This record gives sequence, C-alpha cells and structure tokens, in this order.
Amino acid sequence: MGGGSRTIVVGGGFAGLAAAVRLVAAGREVLVVEAAKHGGGRSRSFHDKVTGREIDNGQHLMMGCYWETLSFMRAIGVPDDALEVQSNLAMTMLKPGGARVELTCPPLPAPLHLAGGLIGMRGIGMLHRAAALRAGLLLRGEIARPDDNETCDAWLRRLGQTPPIRAAFWEPLIWAVLNDDPLVASAAMLIAVLERAFMGSRAASSLVVPRLPLSSVYVQRAVDYIEARGGEVRFASPARKLELDADGRVAGLTLKSGETVATEQIVTAVPPQVLLELLPEAAREHLVFRDVARLEASPIVNLWVTLDEPLLDRPFVGLIASPLHWLWDRDRIEAGTSGRPTAGDSLLSVTISGARGFVDDQPEALRELFLGEIARFFPRARPQIRGFRVVKEKRATISHAVGTYRRRPETQSPIPGLLLAGDWVRTGLPATIESAVQSGHDAAARVLSGR
Ligand SMILES: Cc1cc2nc3c(=O)[nH]c(=O)nc-3n(C[C@H](O)[C@H](O)[C@H](O)COP(=O)(O)OP(=O)(O)OC[C@H]3O[C@@H](n4cnc5c(N)ncnc54)[C@H](O)[C@@H]3O)c2cc1C
Repeated sequence: MGGGSRTIVVGGGFAGLAAAVRLVAAGREVLVVEAAKHGGGRSRSFHDKVTGREIDNGQHLMMGCYWETLSFMRAIGVPDDALEVQSNLAMTMLKPGGARVELTCPPLPAPLHLAGGLIGMRGIGMLHRAAALRAGLLLRGEIARPDDNETCDAWLRRLGQTPPIRAAFWEPLIWAVLNDDPLVASAAMLIAVLERAFMGSRAASSLVVPRLPLSSVYVQRAVDYIEARGGEVRFASPARKLELDADGRVAGLTLKSGETVATEQIVTAVPPQVLLELLPEAAREHLVFRDVARLEASPIVNLWVTLDEPLLDRPFVGLIASPLHWLWDRDRIEAGTSGRPTAGDSLLSVTISGARGFVDDQPEALRELFLGEIARFFPRARPQIRGFRVVKEKRATISHAVGTYRRRPETQSPIPGLLLAGDWVRTGLPATIESAVQSGHDAAARVLSGR
C-alpha cells in the first residue's frame, strides 16, 4: 500500500458515477472500480440477440422532480433530446376490454394542475375522481407526519379511496415508484414521492422517459467527464475487501485481482448484499450493518417483445388490475414527439413490478401470460410475436415494506472513512434513480466537507 489521498468509489451505477462526477468536478482525485465490463448497474443496456436491438434491463421512467438526476445529466452533457419530457403530466390506463382512463393535467400552477387533472379524468365516475381529489387536498397534512408503519393500502382506505380510483390511479403509481405491493409497501415512501412530485412546481410531476437505451445516455458521458478531469474508471475490477487500520479506519481496498489500493476514503455505491461482503467480518456485527442484512429485495421482470405490428397508439400505457403494469412502445419512444416510428416490426417493453409471483416462471409461462393479457386488454389486436426476451432482476430494488426505512443506513457509516451510497441508503426517497444519484451526491458532499 502507499499514497492514500484519492477517494475510491466502488460501483459504476448511477450512485457511484454521480459521486465520482461531483468529486472530480471539485478537483478531487478519484478511482472508480466497477465489477462489470460496462457501467450502469441496474440501469444498464446491452445488445440483445433475440430482438436484435440495444435494450435496457428494464424500461426506466423518471419525473421532473428527479432534480439530482437531471442536474447530474446536465453536468455530464446529456443533450436535452435524449430525454422525452412531458409538458404536463399525462397518462393513459386501459381497462380490460380496452376502454381508457385518461389523466391529463392542465397547465395550472401546482398543485392545482393535479386537482384539475383529477377532476377532469376521463373514463372514471365523478364519485371516484372526487375521492382522489379529497386525498390530494389532505396531502399537505399527511406530509407533516409520515408514518413508516402504515401500508399504502391502509393509507388509501383511511383517505376513503374507492376501488376504481385505487385501480386506475393509486395502485399503478405505487407499483411503479415503490416496486412493491400496496398491501405491504410503506405509505411514508409514497408520500415522500407525492410531496416532491405534486407539491412543488407543475414540471415536477411531468414524466421523463429516456428516448435511447439508458447506458448510451449517461454511462460513457460520465466516464469521459471523470477521465477528462484526471479521474480513473476501471471496469471488470471487482472489489473484494475493505482494509481497515488498527484504529478501525479505512486504509485501503483489495480488489479480486489481489491488488490493494491504499486510501483513507471509500464511497461504496453497491447493493446491500455486496457491501456486507466487502466488510471485514467483525464490522458486519455493527448494528447498522445488521440492519442492512435485514433489508429484503423486490424483483422486476421485464418482457421485451418484437411484434409484427405496433400494438399501442402512444408511447406507453398502464393496464388496470393486470400483472403487466406498463407497456412501452420503444419505437415511438425513440422517435420522440418530433418523429414517427418506422413501419414493420415493433418493439414492446413490458414491466412487471414487484414481480415476486413471476420471477421464477419459465419464459413459456410468461409468454402465455403476455398473450392472455393482450387478448384481454386489446381484444381486436392480433399481433404475432417475432421475438420474446425475458429480463429478470431478482434484486431490482429493496422492498419498501413498512418498517424498512429505519434499517436503511445513513451516508456516514460507523467506519471512519467509509461513506455509503446507493439507491437503498437513507435518502428520504424510495430506491429509484433519483435516490441513487442523491446518495452519490450526498456522499461526495461528505468527502468534500471533510466530515
Ligand atoms: C428492471 C428495473 C427497472 C427499474 N425502473 C426504474 C424506474 O423506472 N425509475 C427509477 O427511478 N428507478 C428504476 N429502477 C431502479 C434503478 O435502476 C436503481 O435505483 C438504480 O439503478 C440504482 O443505482 P445504484 O448506483 O444505486 O446501484 P446499481 O445500479 O446496482 O450499481 C451498483 C454497481 O456496483 C457494481 N458492483 C457490484 N459488486 C461490485 C464489486 N464487488 N466491486 C465493484 N463494483 C461492484 C455493479 O456491477 C453495479 O454496476 C429500476 C430497476 C430495475 C432493475
């Protein structure tokens, strides 16, 4: 070992790259070590032989209130047209049979835009829209006392939400942002998102869809940014173990290659299980890390389906009360509002969030599920499947079951010199891209402030 002034960032997903970008921007020496050959982690793209396309491990959706993410993207030079940003929040949900429920928020200041959108929602009765509006009006009071022991289901009941408005608005939102079942997911985490999305500016609630495969949007640009400022990014360099000195402070990082790199400061930006493996055995006994060991995972299954013709007449729709939560027409998304998708085969991405019941299914079973749901929601469509690819992420995010939040660790770990980043640390947000980037920025701020 020798040297030690540079900060090592372990992990090249959103959290690690965001931390490294902030650090090199402030003139710090940084080394990023990433286990995989390419960066991106759980927000990554790859070339897929079945579809013949560059695809993501799963369709990612962001919102205007992803302030940290959008500032990270601006910093590394992501062009505006890489992201499709809605001018006002709008979404279409389909009922079985194909009838639509449409939410279109008018261009009013927040939160009036949401009130206007809910009142004017098409395809759902006035009684149910009024229930949603009532929840919206009560939201400010709910924010004042977040309670991590109340499930989303109990919260929706307490606020008098009717089954139709739950199915058409609340439950799709909950599965999407919490990646968990409303029966177990914490209302506090939902409220954290509602506050950011709906109580600030109107733009905060707009949906933001990456037009291109995600890796091509941010990974190489972040790496270029880091390297142009003297930082180093090493791919295919898994970390194996944190080295501590006699006082229990960070002293270095040993890689799987056997090399030990000396440093006094490490930012880990890896999932919980990996962090625990990196720790010296004795450190895992610390209460903070024992809590980390108790965090559970929630899966996402993504289906990538090449069809002989487009199924959707818009970039994306949600399916009400279906295990297939969202369908995305990748060609429309890539063409953007300005372009038109080319004729011929069409690539559809299907999101099954909180997919505990599906993650162990064989592709044939998932294909049957897909065909059955398409017949149910698009009774007149007769699409032929030309290619079918299943991407399973068993540990897509941590589970946001009630009582989980207190087990998520702070940025500052109990080990001096070790800072924790990753979407799952205690950011006040559910495990999302925004939480990941915020955690990276928080860790960088700690390094820079010398605390
Ligand atoms: C299918 C899917 C869909 C999703 N959809 C959305 C969405 O629509 N909106 C949203 O906001 N969020 C979404 N998420 C969540 C989002 O992807 C994550 O919150 C985010 O990518 C987490 O970033 P991270 O940097 O914290 O972790 P990761 O992306 O997991 O990065 C950790 C990195 O560490 C690396 N690593 C692991 N072990 C080691 C080691 N020993 N040494 C060095 N490196 C190591 C990994 O290879 C990885 O690159 C989705 C997730 C999935 C899986």
